[in-house]
Amino acid sequence: MAIDSHSMHTHTCGELRADNIGQTVTLTGWVRARRDFGGLIFIDLRDREGLTQVFFDPDLCSPEVFAAAETVRPEWPILVEGEVRHRIEGQTNPNLATGEIELLCTRVEVLNSSKTPPFQIEDHIETSEDLRLKYRYLDIRRPKMMSNLKLRSDFTFAIRQALHDRAFMEVETPALFKSTPEGARDFLVPSRTQPGHFYALPQSPQLLKQLLMVGGVERYYQVAKCFRDEDLRADRQPEFTQVDIEMSFVEQDDVMGALEDVLSDAFAKVGVEMPTPLRRLSYWDAMDTYGIDKPDTRIGMELHDVTSIFAESGFKLFASAANAEGQHIKAICAPGAGVWGRSKIDKLADVAASFGAKGLAWVAFKENGAVQSPIAKFLSDAEMDALKAEMGANPGDLILFAVGGRLQTDEILGGMRNHMADVLEIPREGHDFLWVVDFPLFHWDEERQAYAAEHQPFTQPNEEDIDKLETDPLACGSHTYDFVMDGYEAGGGGMRIHNAELQMRILKLLGFTPERARAQFGFLMDALEYGAPPMGGFALGLDRVCMLLAGLDSIRDVMAFPKTSSGSDLMSEAPSEVTDAQLNELSLRTTL
Ligand code: ASP
Repeated sequence: MAIDSHSMHTHTCGELRADNIGQTVTLTGWVRARRDFGGLIFIDLRDREGLTQVFFDPDLCSPEVFAAAETVRPEWPILVEGEVRHRIEGQTNPNLATGEIELLCTRVEVLNSSKTPPFQIEDHIETSEDLRLKYRYLDIRRPKMMSNLKLRSDFTFAIRQALHDRAFMEVETPALFKSTPEGARDFLVPSRTQPGHFYALPQSPQLLKQLLMVGGVERYYQVAKCFRDEDLRADRQPEFTQVDIEMSFVEQDDVMGALEDVLSDAFAKVGVEMPTPLRRLSYWDAMDTYGIDKPDTRIGMELHDVTSIFAESGFKLFASAANAEGQHIKAICAPGAGVWGRSKIDKLADVAASFGAKGLAWVAFKENGAVQSPIAKFLSDAEMDALKAEMGANPGDLILFAVGGRLQTDEILGGMRNHMADVLEIPREGHDFLWVVDFPLFHWDEERQAYAAEHQPFTQPNEEDIDKLETDPLACGSHTYDFVMDGYEAGGGGMRIHNAELQMRILKLLGFTPERARAQFGFLMDALEYGAPPMGGFALGLDRVCMLLAGLDSIRDVMAFPKTSSGSDLMSEAPSEVTDAQLNELSLRTTL
């Protein structure tokens, strides 16, 4: 990347090579370090593109230049001019792009001074994330953070280009809009001119993009900020970015095909191959095989249903499950964990409990051929042999069981599978891309004791299930697809309802009275009555995808100014109190 004109410098600090030797150049940047060696001074100068060594020799520059070089300290911005020359014998640095050359400085301009930064501006620093966030502008100077932001910029540009090339139109939608549920709590913005009334910040542009389809835009996209007022889990932020996409006059395979083209094109531009067509796993296949609807298929350890092995077991718990309707015994085989000591294995029960298990049965195959297990004495040789064969267990492996309903056993072992992969450090080479499709339309929300939309309330049910919407809602499938990357839900979408009557039936099932549905979604219901076309779309979680592309494990590291898990911006100290005058203008009073 070159920043080659309209600038105080002629080159960047990452640019000069042996080819430039003999040229007179100007660089600008920050002093990373200054080294004084018996009357000679070396300065490492850093900008966003890299690092260049600048050399000051009192015999070859003026006393003023040398004196100025003696005053500069780390993180002072300076401008230097001089001749590019080969570094002296033995001083070249093969680990640095500019390591063959140095700048023999003949002019220096100190552009500003700097306080000593609170942490070193280097990649491998040991400092708290809080301090990095408080001084984010210094953190961004670190090469790794800068490369994360560059990668994000490159990928965002690539996906915009890929969409633009395929006739998608970028349309901006408002940030001040109406509260519409997308499964999370809204951020509200009080209206000054209409006291007691509120805008909501969009959880996504979902309804607006559907309205754009009614408006005939046909292919829409937007790099859109989304806002969800959730309690923040590790990988969440109250505001995040989606590449939001919608198409009309399409069927599900058209949308998925277009998305595969766009995504593989954009990934290729940042050096990642995404082979198409992508594998498709149904929701239930994903659950039954990996125990999760966003599987990382690189880590193996698939779930096996071993119910039939234990129909006549001497182990009561297994036998009664094997003979009960809807009950399953499932297992995973963790390679190498069988050599663990008993207490270490027993501790896994706590982990399983966090995924809903009441206990954890296990069988460890020791490397000397012995079997260790609290339940071994209840199991026959035939059961043990059948288990070993079904699981493909080798000496040194550990089998973990879950007993219960289908979803329950899936979820317990899905959680254990990811846990064991982390603990065993099972290598994850390359990237893992797939679709998970055919999600159920609804799930039962225990907390609210009500049906809830699995994706969102505007999802098109499978045509063949429409008859049983009211009679057997949980058995209804939907036109949905999640894009799974490396075990993360990196995107998701579906076909939309484009019929007002069907939309009203779904809202009713979700607990909306016609009046409330009207109050909240009247504008959507109206629009659906004016020739809404068949439509479907998708949203890609840009932060998360960039995190995975950069090989990071926190989305904060691909965001310039992220918030902490309590929703604070440590740099500006937002959220903060406001004046009474501001509250009065909004006709608001706090109850604190
Ligand atoms: N609006 C949905 C979401 O934010 C994505 C979609 O269905 O397009 O999850």
